[in-house]
Amino acid sequence: MNSFADVLLPLPIKGSFTYSIPEALQYQAAVGKRVVVPFGKSRLYTGIVRAVHDNAPEKYSAKDIALVLDDHAIVNYFQMEFWEWMAAYYMCNVGEVMQAALPSAFLISSETRIVLNDDLKIDPSSFTDREYLVFEALSLKNVLSYKDVADILGIKTIHPLLKDMFDKGIIGFYEELRESYKAKTETFIALAATYCDAKQLSAAFASLTKAAKQEDVLMQLVSLAGKNLESFTISKKKFLKIEGVSVSGLQALIGKNIIVEEQREIGRLNAYDEATHDAKGLNDDQRRAHSEIQEQFQKHEVVLLHGVTGSGKTEIYIHLIEEQIKLGKQVLYLLPEIALTTQIIRRLQHVLGDEVGIYHSRYSMNERVEVWNKLQKKGGYQVVLGARSALFLPFDNLGLIIVDEEHESSFKQQEPAPRYHARDMAVVLGNKHKAKVLLGSATPSVDSYHNAIHEKYGLVKLEKRHGGIMMPEIFCADVQEEKRKKKMKSIFSSLLLSNMETALENREQIILFQNRRGFAPMLECNLCGHTPKCNKCDVSLTYHKALNLLKCHYCGYAEKKAISCAACGSVEVALVGFGTQKIEEEIALVFPKAKVGRMDWDTTRTKNAYQQIIGDFEDKSIDILVGTQMVSKGLDFDNVALVGVLNADQMLNFPDFRAHERAYQMMSQVSGRAGRKNKRGKVVIQTYSPDHNIIRYVIDSNYEALYHSEILLRRNFKYPPFYRLVGITVKHQSLDLVNAAAAYFAGILKESLDEAEVLGPEFPSIARIRGEYIKNILVKIPRNATTNKTKNTILFKIELFQITEPFKKCRLIIDVDPV
Ligand code: ADP
Ligand code: ZN
Ligand code: ZN
Repeated sequence: MNSFADVLLPLPIKGSFTYSIPEALQYQAAVGKRVVVPFGKSRLYTGIVRAVHDNAPEKYSAKDIALVLDDHAIVNYFQMEFWEWMAAYYMCNVGEVMQAALPSAFLISSETRIVLNDDLKIDPSSFTDREYLVFEALSLKNVLSYKDVADILGIKTIHPLLKDMFDKGIIGFYEELRESYKAKTETFIALAATYCDAKQLSAAFASLTKAAKQEDVLMQLVSLAGKNLESFTISKKKFLKIEGVSVSGLQALIGKNIIVEEQREIGRLNAYDEATHDAKGLNDDQRRAHSEIQEQFQKHEVVLLHGVTGSGKTEIYIHLIEEQIKLGKQVLYLLPEIALTTQIIRRLQHVLGDEVGIYHSRYSMNERVEVWNKLQKKGGYQVVLGARSALFLPFDNLGLIIVDEEHESSFKQQEPAPRYHARDMAVVLGNKHKAKVLLGSATPSVDSYHNAIHEKYGLVKLEKRHGGIMMPEIFCADVQEEKRKKKMKSIFSSLLLSNMETALENREQIILFQNRRGFAPMLECNLCGHTPKCNKCDVSLTYHKALNLLKCHYCGYAEKKAISCAACGSVEVALVGFGTQKIEEEIALVFPKAKVGRMDWDTTRTKNAYQQIIGDFEDKSIDILVGTQMVSKGLDFDNVALVGVLNADQMLNFPDFRAHERAYQMMSQVSGRAGRKNKRGKVVIQTYSPDHNIIRYVIDSNYEALYHSEILLRRNFKYPPFYRLVGITVKHQSLDLVNAAAAYFAGILKESLDEAEVLGPEFPSIARIRGEYIKNILVKIPRNATTNKTKNTILFKIELFQITEPFKKCRLIIDVDPV
């Protein structure tokens, strides 16, 4: 008999905690199930049983498990090992990984409740006023929460009072748990069992001769049921929509027990109930790539599919998925952006029907639980399409992981920990399951391509678009030149404008791309150059026309747009910079008849917004789609004649070692949206530096050249893939403290890390956010060094830092492999 259980808790603590298993729970407590356990001062938490055994902990006496929540394990070994691996690699706690991994509805924690002491021995007349108010409320309501008490008394600090009342024996506390997953139910109706008998039924009808409405309702139900009187049920909502069915008639029959109601659980996930179709046959080139992928998988765990946009990578994925399903294996298909799932899911369901599930952060907590549960059921999903969090689903039989658009930096989680890269973790997860991993991209990351060239990964290429569609023709508009010749019309070059005109005349569609980083329109004084800034963050405020407000995109601070400059009083303040919203307005001035759609962070915040915009563009109710990087990725439209890149320079000049790689990727990807069946698409890139080597590579579609120029820089300047990076950020409201703490910490790292280089501390380009100053330290670890040793040393120094006055007041954030 196992009497102890190691339990993982959703708290920032190291490893697991050991609890004793009470006699009564011996048979229930098992690995992978959720248990409720006390932790800290009488709080209860949900944890997951990691292991059961017979060894009592040495350093503390184990408390009892309070409750076992599940009948069967909701988490498997693969998952728990994966969590632990991630925690070690990303230098965080396994509890933090667990919290990211589980739908929050699985993790119930308790809330403290206040009750009257059962045997109250004091006379209430001796109570203070506040004590009396609490006593009175408890006499009426039996149970109160902290918030109730605070509301009743109208004060915030209630703990001293409550502690006093507890010590006097007036009140007691207990912990209440609340399950937060709620199954969705719907009311169904059926004929009561008694009346399924023919005789009884005619008797019922006979009794209703004077109640025409009820008679109609019963008639409808009986005719719908046909021969299946006994088994027939229908949703009440649906039934009430039928003509001749009245609410009052139905309620009366329910009152008479002739019709009965029943609450039934229904899923939240939309079932796909249309017919499925065969996958498209592969063309010759695709067939070659498909068999090369299979060959490469014999030798490699990971294969990189480098295929130009529109070459049919997705079609190949679909074939590979079907093969896995035939083998009875599961497939995980990862995408970097939720926007992409809406198009791909249709293509997958068209072939695979209901076997495909979707999972991403726009799903509610309840929907996520349902996907999770369905994956664990026999006959549930075989394939899951999702964003990075789908890595954490309870797969137990993975055969293949596809990471599409593998170069995308949005695969990396920024906040909170674990700050993981889903592409890299897909490789790790694949390894645990002995599953194959396919990375796909038209513009692979320098890192993955490096691995492929050096035969760590297999490499397969697709160089032609399907259906003989040509790669687009790319032109450069020299903004400086056009400005000099006064040919620019607001933000548009004459080259872009004339091409837009032609496209619109031909009733063809246009995509205009504006990188998010140059997105903010802000106010600037023409006289003194002053720009209104946020008083808590080190950034300029962004102008929002619809609200006539200046807003901070980091903390949400907002102020009214002033008429004159706050620094010099001049009224010559003007907007500089242009965002997607501004572009939309400018188009309306130049092409008043064109229908314009906008896809950016602001217009896609609701769950179905992407679908709406993409749908409108697909059925051509939008002529011009303006957007940020969202429009650059993987979307497949069939009528786009022209793509415009409005400002390439912002991407090229961004201070980051990956800036050029990203600029190349973004421009190539968005260019890839242009082109149609029998017509070559056009791309116009507006830039101040038309001779920039990156722009040349984009124009020539020369990925190899991009790769070789980048890899040289990476080697010379000691960046990935030659070095691993660990970023450490120090934050605090006091500038002096941040300066001192960061210098101190960088100092001890420099002293103690012999294999790695320590850079900084330095202020990032935005040095203050939400009132906190920020300083960065960068550790560069050579590939051939023992990374674990270095990481352990860093962790050890962090522990030390966190007990050193006054530095321990600072927040430290660790980011392994920052992007
Ligand atoms: P990629 O993922 O490489 O960008 P897609 O798979 O989206 O390319 O293919 C581009 C377009 O060509 C899609 O509309 C797709 O349906 C079509 N297509 C690709 N391969 C085939 C094929 N073998 N048969 C029919 N249509 C295809
Ligand atoms: Zn701010
Ligand atoms: Zn001024």
